[in-house]
Amino acid sequence: MSAAAQDVIFSLRGLERHFVQPQDMVDRLGRLLKGRSAPNPVQAVAGVDLDIIAGEVLGIVGESGCGKSTLGRMLAGILEPTRGEILYKGRSIATLDAAARREYELAVQMIFQDPFSSLNPRMRVIDIIGEAPLAHGMITRSAKDAKVCELMHKVGLDPAYRYRYPHQFSGGQRQRVGVARALALRPSVIVCDEAVAALDVSIQAQVLNLFADLREEFALTYFFISHNLGVVSHISDRVAIMYLGRIVEIAPTETIFKTANHPYTQALIKELPTLHAERHQFDPIKGELPSPSDPPAGCPFHPRCPQVMARCRQDRPLLKTVERRLDATNGRSVHLSACHLNDAA
Ligand code: SF4
Repeated sequence: MSAAAQDVIFSLRGLERHFVQPQDMVDRLGRLLKGRSAPNPVQAVAGVDLDIIAGEVLGIVGESGCGKSTLGRMLAGILEPTRGEILYKGRSIATLDAAARREYELAVQMIFQDPFSSLNPRMRVIDIIGEAPLAHGMITRSAKDAKVCELMHKVGLDPAYRYRYPHQFSGGQRQRVGVARALALRPSVIVCDEAVAALDVSIQAQVLNLFADLREEFALTYFFISHNLGVVSHISDRVAIMYLGRIVEIAPTETIFKTANHPYTQALIKELPTLHAERHQFDPIKGELPSPSDPPAGCPFHPRCPQVMARCRQDRPLLKTVERRLDATNGRSVHLSACHLNDAA
């Protein structure tokens, strides 16, 4: 196995996840009028191929409904794929025996958007952080208190507050409790699903800095999901842009901002607020995200793309290399984009 292959912690191959929507009378009638007998499944993730490098922060960006959270939940083992394969350290997670599956589920932890609803309001922080490692035999009961104090200190919380309940903390502090709970299971990978979206901007910066510090100390890999390209840029080594269940562009963060290739990525960058007065006008992406149960033919972005061509309405563009540069750290500075404009160039 090459050094580069050994560095890959997750490989996703043709990953898909479909959901069947519950149907009411209006849905059924509409379907009958269109001559369809069965509802179209929602293609939340419609074919993702991706390698995640050990130790990197991979940002996943896209509008609400693009499938990024579903992808994160499949990585964390919360959802099963409909099709395709997830390889963790080279082994398909579908073929793991019970012991290996447990090890995998402990190694991949998830931090959610709303720290309040993801913490049990009836549990004290000492138990929220300390119960899971105790239940999994990672610590003894006598070591629990010291371990919780150590973890609270690591995430910037005063251990003296360990007997408090979640409602006695601020939003930023609750998210730190969630981080400590995840760290208590000694993970290799943390899936952050809009982990700072519910926080004030100043608190967002503090929690992002905390993630960056913990990455070094605990040798973590992050799968950092956000609808906000600006937030992701502060922490990510690479950024993958998702649209309607597929990755349409992926590149190192700096490349995405300097030479974004895909018209959708370019539109996301134009939407970002800027401090420069001459660029102050807000330039939103035109139109709505199409329904994942009835995606457009050809390029899924074509109904909204300012550079649409005739071919875009029929042929779906594949993710292809735009630029390949060797990177000193992992050689993964490949820039991929799925747009027919690259064939026309
Ligand atoms: Fe736009 Fe066509 Fe490229 Fe799709 S393939 S992003 S519609 S130019």
